[in-house]
Amino acid sequence: MNTPPPLEERVEALLRTASGGASELHAALGELYDRYRTQARLLERITRISDLFQRAERDRGQSYAEKLERKVRQIEKIVRISDRYQLMLHDLNERLTKISTHDELTGLPNRRFMQEKLQYEIARTERQGSRFSIALADIDHFKRINDSAGHACGDAVLQQLAECLRSNLREYDSCARWGGEEFLLLFHDCNQEQAAKLAERMRLAVGQLESSQIPGSLRPTISLGVTEYSPSKGLDQALCEADLALYRAKAEGRNRVVVHCAEQLPDAQAGNTLP
Ligand code: GH3
Ligand code: MG
Ligand code: MG
Repeated sequence: MNTPPPLEERVEALLRTASGGASELHAALGELYDRYRTQARLLERITRISDLFQRAERDRGQSYAEKLERKVRQIEKIVRISDRYQLMLHDLNERLTKISTHDELTGLPNRRFMQEKLQYEIARTERQGSRFSIALADIDHFKRINDSAGHACGDAVLQQLAECLRSNLREYDSCARWGGEEFLLLFHDCNQEQAAKLAERMRLAVGQLESSQIPGSLRPTISLGVTEYSPSKGLDQALCEADLALYRAKAEGRNRVVVHCAEQLPDAQAGNTLP
């Protein structure tokens, strides 16, 4: 069966065949058809414009998404850089703290840091009624090591000796490089006698130091002066007592521990010089 031609074609054919002006129906159909054509063209334009708008919106949406993605990538990059800088600053800070509180050659706490530790320890004695003792240790005849084996060997001795002291400390005790070849030891919760035993342990450990860099004849020994801190004497007096006890250890032949005793003070302060 043949399908009839579309409605528009049929109307156009009708309008073509019917005689112009003869039928009112024909005129009305013509007018209606014209209006239909106008509306159809209008609808077509509106559809085209709407399509254009939709496409433009989609493109705009895409470019927003791209811009957003680019911004996110930039922010991620900034965050990564900032993280790296923070890490660097943290490392730098740690290194600066280490440099300002530790001795470069031996790695031990330096004098300034030890002074802080001593103040902390003094505050603890006042708060908790605890006690502590100190020992000043000095390498015997260190100048000879430098003079006969060279300064570099002297440095190596200082490093090994510092390591020896550090590794023989009890967990809560500390040791600092107090000066050139002097070390200050802090013994927690110790009276003078207990501290003397610990100091003796240090002396023996140093005496057993073996090293390929140090010739046997130059094996170092240390002398130590020990005293107990008390709030009535104060820190300066305690340091002075340790120094005087060390002075006696040197005077009595070196490589020994001497504990401070009260009678020592006037004699040593009289101006004796080391042998
Ligand atoms: P004593 O038994 O009386 O203490 O004699 P000593 O030779 O140890 O003492 P003295 O004070 O005469 O000499 C200490 C030497 O330590 C002098 C100095 O050049 C040396 N010294 C200090 N600091 C360092 C250092 O960092 N490295 C080296 N290699 N030597 C140092
Ligand atoms: Mg010395
Ligand atoms: Mg000295």
